[in-house]
Order: sequence, then structure tokens, then C-alpha cells
Amino acid sequence: MNTMLRIAVQKSGRLQEKSIKLLSECGLNFSNGTNRLKAVSYNFPAEILFLRDDDIPQYVEDQVADIGIVGENVYAEKGKAVDLVQRLNFAKCRLSIAVPKGTHYSGLADLAGKRIATTYPNIVRKFLSEKGISSDIHEISGSVEIAPGIGLAEAICDIVSTGSTLLSNGLKEVETVMKSEAVMIANPNLDDERQKILDQLIFRIKSVNTARNNKYLLLNAPNSAIEAITAILPGMKSPTITPLGMEGWSSLHSVVNEDDFWDIIDQLKSLGAQGILVIPIEKMII
Ligand code: ATP
Ligand code: ZN
Repeated sequence: MNTMLRIAVQKSGRLQEKSIKLLSECGLNFSNGTNRLKAVSYNFPAEILFLRDDDIPQYVEDQVADIGIVGENVYAEKGKAVDLVQRLNFAKCRLSIAVPKGTHYSGLADLAGKRIATTYPNIVRKFLSEKGISSDIHEISGSVEIAPGIGLAEAICDIVSTGSTLLSNGLKEVETVMKSEAVMIANPNLDDERQKILDQLIFRIKSVNTARNNKYLLLNAPNSAIEAITAILPGMKSPTITPLGMEGWSSLHSVVNEDDFWDIIDQLKSLGAQGILVIPIEKMII
């Protein structure tokens, strides 16, 4: 049988859907059979294993899977012998310390000797010890946000994205311990064949993510404005310019980064651009 790259993906939870979506945008199609433990790609040498995300670093270290997709927070917490090979730009969140709203808080020193409930004891311990603070870390496996209310701890450290869960539990965020996003981890000792498949996959992931951050831009402009417009359009090399049927006008095509997007649109309009169209890019090979 041919070598396959075994990819561990969360079996249910916040990472699952986007992990699968990313792989399918990379051109991996899966047999979506009834067997939810495993799916085989029929057009790329890969097989997906659906596992609990917290177990994935261990499985990758043990070479039950070759690579896996997990939150950076889980990668950091588990401290397994795996490499972070690619950031994936989704599931962005942060791990923060929070205290009850009414608590006076003026800095990390206030946490000395206090009980902190968390599902991430290793990350919190390392963070505090680097700051020279010694607290009493209570590892619990879920519903961390209720710990202060039931008298289990004076503070918590948990995942925050918008902060609404903290608020509804009467807590306020006081320290950011780490920022996190989904990452791809890999066993450091892949054989050559698997390493080659992984390199191919990472190349595709980069193309997908670059495309997501860029838009294809088309516009019409009077020929007198082309020079000024070209100067503000980055393009992959330089914009494509084709004459319009109407005398004295041209159509310009270019690629624009999401970050500069609105700035550039405003400038284009003031330079006389018309009929501006913005189109998503599916893949961008750089
Ligand atoms: P369990 O495994 O017990 O179901 P979990 O917290 O490990 O719980 P999820 O809630 O599915 O599993 O979260 C998986 C990962 O998604 C987290 O490790 C984190 O990296 C990221 N994450 C969690 N909450 C959010 C959020 N609100 N916004 C964005 N990313 C998040
Ligand atoms: Zn989990």
C-alpha cells in the first residue's frame, strides 16, 4: 500500500469544521463514510483521524498520527515532542486570567498566594513563575468560569474570545497569558516520503491562506489617471491594463491585500476610478 500522511483532526468542537474546510480547500476530498473515526482522501495520499483535540499532541508524538491540527494553547499546555509547523489563521482566542468583577486588582502581585482554577495548569504555572509570582494552581477539567462563584478559587485562567462568558459569570479579564490560533503540529521524525507529502500540504495551506487575505480588483479609469492609479496598486507584479471600448478609458486588474483594502479603494475613487469590482480569490500561488 502507498504511504499516507495521517492527519489528526478534532472529532467534535470548535476546530473541527474549519479544519476540514481548510483541508478540502487544499484539494483533499474525503470519503465521508459512516466511519467517523477515519476518512481516507481519494485524491491525495492522506487519511484523517478524528480524535479528541486534547489527545492529539500525544498521538502525534507517538506517531499514531503524523500531523495534527490543534489550538496553540493545547500544543503549549501538553509540551509534547512535536513541532509547530504552520499557523493556520483560525480559532483565534487568548488565554486570560480573570477575577470577580468586584475584586480590586492592581497587578500580578495581587495573585500571589491565591487559588487560580484552570484547565491549563502548565501554561499558567510557567507564566507566573517567569514573573516571579507563586500562586496555588487548581487544575479542573471544565466549567472553569464558575470556580470563583462556588468558592473554589479567587481567580481563573481560561480561553476568551469576546469576553461575554466572563461577563455573564461576573468576572473581569485582568491579564493575557497567551494568544492562540489553530496550528499544525507534526512529528519531528517523519520519514522522507511523509515529509514530502507534508511539504506539499503546507504549500497548499499557504496558498489558501494568502488567497483569503487578498482580493482581485477590477476597475475602469480614464487613461489620464492610469499612472496615478498604477502607483497605488501593488499587484502581484504590476496591474493588467486593457483598453475599454470607450475611447480614452481602460480597465485595470490587480490584487489587493485585505489590510490596505479600504484605504486603496478611497484613493482609487478620488483618482476617478469607476465600476470598481472586488472578487474573492480561491488560491494564490506565490
Ligand atoms: P473539550 O475538548 O472538552 O470539548 P475544548 O476547549 O478543548 O473542550 P473546544 O471548545 O472545541 O474544545 O476548543 C478547541 C480549541 O478552539 C481551543 O483549544 C482553542 O484553541 C480554540 N477556542 C476555544 N474557544 C474559542 C473561542 N471562543 N473562539 C475562538 N477559538 C476558541
Ligand atoms: Zn478539548
